[in-house]
Amino acid sequence: MSQSVATPPSTSLTAEHMKASMSKLQAELIAQYGQDQAIRIRRGLHQVMEFWREDDGDTSVYEDFVRKNFAGDQASLDIMFDRFQRLLEQLDGHMHEIIREFRNQQDLDVGPVRTYDETFGGYDPSAHIIDDFFQNKLAFTVLLNFPLTTLDERINLGPKWTRRQWAETRLAQRFSKRIPADVNLAIAQAAAESDNYITAYNIWMHHLVDDKSQRLFPPKMRLLSHWNLRDEIKADYIDKENGLAKQRMIQQVMERIITQTIPQVVIDNPRVDWNPFTNQVTPAAVSDSDAPVTTDTKIANSAEPSTRYAMLLKTFHAARLADPYSPTEPTLIARRFEENRELPEERVQAMLEQVLTSPLVLQVAKLIESRLGRPLEPFDIWYSGFRPGSSNDERELDSIVAKKYPAAESYQKDIPNLLMKLGFSSDRANYLADRIVVDPARGAGHAMGAEMRTEKAHLRTRVEKSGMNYKGFNVAAHEMGHNVEQTLSLNDVDYTLLQGVPNTAFTEGFAFVFQAQDMHLLGLASPDVRSEALKTVNDFWGTYEIAGVALVDMAVWHWMYDHPDATPEQLRDATLQISKDLWNKFYAPVFNKKDVVLLGVYSHMIDSFMYLPDYPIGHLIAFQIEEQMKKAGNIGTEFERMAKMGRITPDLWMENATGSPVGAEALLNATEVALKQAQIPAE
Ligand SMILES: [Zn+2]
Repeated sequence: MSQSVATPPSTSLTAEHMKASMSKLQAELIAQYGQDQAIRIRRGLHQVMEFWREDDGDTSVYEDFVRKNFAGDQASLDIMFDRFQRLLEQLDGHMHEIIREFRNQQDLDVGPVRTYDETFGGYDPSAHIIDDFFQNKLAFTVLLNFPLTTLDERINLGPKWTRRQWAETRLAQRFSKRIPADVNLAIAQAAAESDNYITAYNIWMHHLVDDKSQRLFPPKMRLLSHWNLRDEIKADYIDKENGLAKQRMIQQVMERIITQTIPQVVIDNPRVDWNPFTNQVTPAAVSDSDAPVTTDTKIANSAEPSTRYAMLLKTFHAARLADPYSPTEPTLIARRFEENRELPEERVQAMLEQVLTSPLVLQVAKLIESRLGRPLEPFDIWYSGFRPGSSNDERELDSIVAKKYPAAESYQKDIPNLLMKLGFSSDRANYLADRIVVDPARGAGHAMGAEMRTEKAHLRTRVEKSGMNYKGFNVAAHEMGHNVEQTLSLNDVDYTLLQGVPNTAFTEGFAFVFQAQDMHLLGLASPDVRSEALKTVNDFWGTYEIAGVALVDMAVWHWMYDHPDATPEQLRDATLQISKDLWNKFYAPVFNKKDVVLLGVYSHMIDSFMYLPDYPIGHLIAFQIEEQMKKAGNIGTEFERMAKMGRITPDLWMENATGSPVGAEALLNATEVALKQAQIPAE
């Protein structure tokens, strides 16, 4: 695809004319509104010019627009601010309402889903709003009057801003990018193409053979890379007979994928057998699928031709097309950290390295070795044995829950009672319960908040014909945590422009707090100290693993920006080197093995535009929230205090909530205590 998709923001001719207009208007407006408006006037004119395109109108249109829409005194600015806040809430709220209704047939357990239901569910009526707002110039009205900010300003000046200033900042940010439709389309196409590549990347496990031609995995087992492969490694810890051999084999498969030495023909193909150690491919000797056994004995075992890295490069080239249209964050890396996460990349890097270099790593590693009774192997980055077994019999729990909640309505009725058990006053519990609707989910369950105050949050939970089961109750507790956060941070926040939390990790933190209380909510004994400690150590080890994966993702994107003309083979080699370097630095001293490439296996790296750092940051943030709740004692009042802060920067939010910025200390301190406190016996 051609890379010259759209013309850059302004041509030199119009730029010159615009500059002349700007100086003229600047003098005129200062004369009209006074010197104390000079800074706002200069900034507003500059912000509008940065996004103005030829088809928005000539200089006379521009001048007329500015004269009519600059709010030069506080009273007019207040009216403008209130109007935009109120109407944008209506716009977001009703759009969200339509999207929710359009998805209902897919999301709820209410009968068959027809093809047109899928089309309704995939439709987004809000997709063109930003384009429309630039076209009708409402976006320019905002840019003329309210300040665009950099992350640096939000971090350094934000703590001194008033709440209104924060609300104005968020209002302006809605229009900080004007990405042309064809660029968005190119990005969506690259995302879809890489996503298709990833979702078809299955390995037929029964067709993996070892040197003795043994098949370790059962027939029909088809695992998607990397998720299912990783989860199979986790599940194999309980297989005392073949677990270790299976785990070693999966590691070998993963390495073949990362290095692209995997034979092309074995991908999603049950018609061949494959020894991932020798890399030999033969016609399948057994059949476990509907696919006919091939009679063709000549099977090529040529390697996959770096397609994995060609896909990643496509997403990079597409993402880069948006750079010129995003003046405050001109790279995807900047957009991810400064716009989406609002945490500077250097800080994130430092937090992750703090976990990776913690002396606790070695202590936990020793503990795992003693539990396994063997030295660690590289795949043990996915060790799962700390998960505590429940002391309650799950079938007994199922029947307790089913009796309590035979239908979604019975859970609905019980919400005030459940919230009071968590420390909310009866007034507040009823207030919240009035704003949450329980629906029967088709899938496992999810929480869908409202986007306007006259709408309610929806709690989707699975209820079987025989009533809700324990798993459903556990999920419902999690989703109820989301719903309570969504309700408080919309209805109780002082400006709806600040509705929400800084990013998804924060709402997950709230949801985990509720979920962890599920036994208490059922009136049963809560987890004991030892299982709490095991859970903490498990969180720590999971964060240690994903922190390295995130650093690979970050380093690979930097490499691509530094080498924009790289070939897929060059990107493959660079990714392997980056994976090995980070392994050697942070994992080799623990695992006593060098040059392992496993950190490069995550599929998100190929199709998700540097999403992976969200996971370790999310672990750290959720942990901070959970720890603060434990410290405060009363979940209800603490929850309300935190959720009302709205969408300010993560650090400022966390300082208000816990006294410290976002960081690794809470997790590290708790892990240290957990290791001492729980004298965890070897298995
Ligand atoms: Zn959640």
